[in-house]
Amino acid sequence: MTAKRDYYEILEVDRSADEATIKSAYRKKAMQFHPDRNQGDAGAEEKFKEATEAYEVLKDAEKRRMYDQYGHAGVQGSGYQYGGGFQGFDLSDALRAFMRDFGGSMFDDFFDPTGRGGRGRRSNQGEDLRVKFALTLEEVATGVERTIKVNRMLRCDVCAGSGVAAGSSKKQCPQCKGIGQVRTVQRTFLGTIQQVSTCNVCRGTGEIISDPCKSCSGDGRVRGTSNVKVKVPPGVTTGNYMSIDNMGNAGPHGGEAGDLIVVFEEKEHEHFTRHGDNVIYELPISFTTAALGGEVSVPTISGFETLAIPAGTQSGKVLKLKGKGIPRLHHSGKGDQLVQVTVWVPTKLSSDDKKVLQRLADSESFSPPRADKSFFEKLRSTLGV
Ligand SMILES: [Zn+2]
Ligand SMILES: [Zn+2]
Repeated sequence: MTAKRDYYEILEVDRSADEATIKSAYRKKAMQFHPDRNQGDAGAEEKFKEATEAYEVLKDAEKRRMYDQYGHAGVQGSGYQYGGGFQGFDLSDALRAFMRDFGGSMFDDFFDPTGRGGRGRRSNQGEDLRVKFALTLEEVATGVERTIKVNRMLRCDVCAGSGVAAGSSKKQCPQCKGIGQVRTVQRTFLGTIQQVSTCNVCRGTGEIISDPCKSCSGDGRVRGTSNVKVKVPPGVTTGNYMSIDNMGNAGPHGGEAGDLIVVFEEKEHEHFTRHGDNVIYELPISFTTAALGGEVSVPTISGFETLAIPAGTQSGKVLKLKGKGIPRLHHSGKGDQLVQVTVWVPTKLSSDDKKVLQRLADSESFSPPRADKSFFEKLRSTLGV
């Protein structure tokens, strides 16, 4: 059993610190030493547990009073099964205590930069890689399967990732004697303070390579490329991504590979504009079709469709081709194609055309409706002019 450190000292707060100060001091320590952030670092885990234990006592007025008066003995066996030392305060209890008071949400954002949640990282896991994947609107509509070339770190074939030259083997780290951690003991007027930290010679592995592999210089991985098959479901949009397990960089010294994150990017289309699952298309129609109505052949993302134009269609009117848009991602059904009609006005007229139009111009049904006089009178009286 090792001597316990003073709780106030662990949290680095004054003996007169109020509850809020204690809470914020603990939060700072816990964030620093949280196991999610220090995978495999036993020293950090100890510190996390130690800080949590200190917090559990100091945040409770009654326990704090007992501690102030009698020291560690005063809070031993007071419902906390610490056992003889820090070892007795189990990590899951400490994690629970932290989650109880600080929740998990801000933590997830904080520690998972990819926002994926999911599996935890080990210290020698390779990095995730991010690649862009451009696709046309047609490819978005149907989904696409394409093989892409990815530059990444691969496991070294020569040493099978170990980093050790053939015929040689890893040796026990002389600094930590294979434990991966170093303990330093300090004597102070408060008692003995013991600190555990990761060995800086072997970086916590407990082993060193005296004869490194020539091919990878002992890293266990080399630069290379991989062909990765990417199967994109229909309906993705710019910013959507897909994570492909183990296709990121191989980890050093035989560590598990990171993931490949494929981020989709939709290319702009010459004729169509996407709006969610709908596709917008601008259709110019003749002035006569607008007036008389008729049928027009319209391109869609999946071929031509016949669209009925009702008689008297005004410019700007939006007509719908139901189910002719983009498939909904991971759902059944499709969006619509929205056809925005513009009435095209002829710019070159023969003299015969002109004669016909001149006659129509005189027809009363060819004048657009206008706001009548009473509207303007009302407006004027409202404005007082
Ligand atoms: Zn190698
Ligand atoms: Zn070592």
